[in-house]
Amino acid sequence: MGMRLKDWGDREKMEAEWNARTMARYQRQMVLPQVGIEGQRRLLKSRVLIIGAGALGSAAATYLVAAGVGNVGLVDGDTVELSNLHRQILHDDADVGRLKTRSAAERLRAMNPEVNLIEHAEFLTRHNVMAIFGSYDLVVNGSDNFPTRYLINDAAVLSHIPLVDAAILRFEGQLSVFRPGFGCYRCLFPAPPPPGVVPDCAEAGIFGAVAGVLGSMEAVEALKILLDLADPDSHMFMIYDALGATWHRMPMHRDPDCAVCGDHPVIREPIDYERFCQSSGPSSVGSVRGPVVSEFALEVSEVKALMDNPAVTVVDVREGNEFHSGHLPRARHYPLEDLDRLLVDGITDTVLVVCAVGVRSAYGAKYLRSHGVTAFTLRGGMAAWRDAYPDDNT
Ligand SMILES: [Zn+2]
Repeated sequence: MGMRLKDWGDREKMEAEWNARTMARYQRQMVLPQVGIEGQRRLLKSRVLIIGAGALGSAAATYLVAAGVGNVGLVDGDTVELSNLHRQILHDDADVGRLKTRSAAERLRAMNPEVNLIEHAEFLTRHNVMAIFGSYDLVVNGSDNFPTRYLINDAAVLSHIPLVDAAILRFEGQLSVFRPGFGCYRCLFPAPPPPGVVPDCAEAGIFGAVAGVLGSMEAVEALKILLDLADPDSHMFMIYDALGATWHRMPMHRDPDCAVCGDHPVIREPIDYERFCQSSGPSSVGSVRGPVVSEFALEVSEVKALMDNPAVTVVDVREGNEFHSGHLPRARHYPLEDLDRLLVDGITDTVLVVCAVGVRSAYGAKYLRSHGVTAFTLRGGMAAWRDAYPDDNT
């Protein structure tokens, strides 16, 4: 579909005529020296694309529009369902059955009529992605499936625009910021898990307010980039654990071998992501099937069998209070931020990494593997273990 962006000239004219309402609307943030009138002008000229008018998109769009990001695009081909409403806060009860882009845009326009809202009432595909991304300065991802996540990542790299990405499941969320030249989602996760391995929100559940936290964080990071408040190399990967009330920030680096942003990229245009995600298949590690987010997740039954094997070191990467409330037999406690200590301690044999639901451990295992340790994770973490062995006194 064609762009419906307004003539930028109109925007310039409007700025020249900033009226009292505009000044008043943004006064409280313009008072911040890091924003000021110049920063506000920059925001009003900015063009941000939000993929998904769902849970993350609702929170991100709300703050971006309220802050006066002048042009906000919303991509979503879906309609509102009743089961969306506990977390997708841009939609009302009366919106059930309507297009999400329409419902969201109406609410956002009512909130800030000065913002130009562009409704892309369609799903993002390899065929439309480059044309759509071409009209924006920055992309915020609020989508919830792997094919779309890789599609967005590759298109952002190929379009040389920053990507603020988030994902949520149950009580956990992850946030990443990828800026051109400093790594991408594929650098962290070169391949998606095989289909059916990662439950979606419908199966696994989602605590609505967690989406609000992560969507708001996306808005914060997007605004920082637009206002030049972020370090140019402030790429990051963070994990939020609502039950433990903790954030973990992980180092992240560009992978020179990355298929799309590496030194010798093999992906030069969007590929067939459905097929890519279908075919990611079993990993090369024997009978070990694919990951939550790592390629090395073991089922609960496989882990049970490993418990008697002294050659396997069990490492629990949760916080102290979580660890002390119950853990696997033989588990040694290395909170994720202290995983380096495990290397210092010379544990370089086979390691099973365990956390609450399998998100932190996936990152931990990936980190250990990058340091030559043969690391696996327990798929679904302690939650899955307790489901399988409710009588087990761990
Ligand atoms: Zn990359």
